[in-house]
Amino acid sequence: MIKVAADLEACQGYANCIVAAEDMFDIDDDGKVILLRTTIPETDRARVEEAARTCPVSALWLEDE
Ligand code: SF4
Repeated sequence: MIKVAADLEACQGYANCIVAAEDMFDIDDDGKVILLRTTIPETDRARVEEAARTCPVSALWLEDE
């Protein structure tokens, strides 16, 4: 499994991550990302990598468990 993590201090609510993987990310009322899932299977790696790559402030990353 792959762990998904977010830096909420860095997150500016651009929502690029939601565009890349709307079933994995949301944004709260303060404009900060919500991780709908914190662990994902290998089959979802490409979409979450895309979300992390397109985040303008590099607030998302993946960790292999
Ligand atoms: S793309 Fe980055 S800055 Fe925008 S909501 Fe997602 S984590 Fe936050």
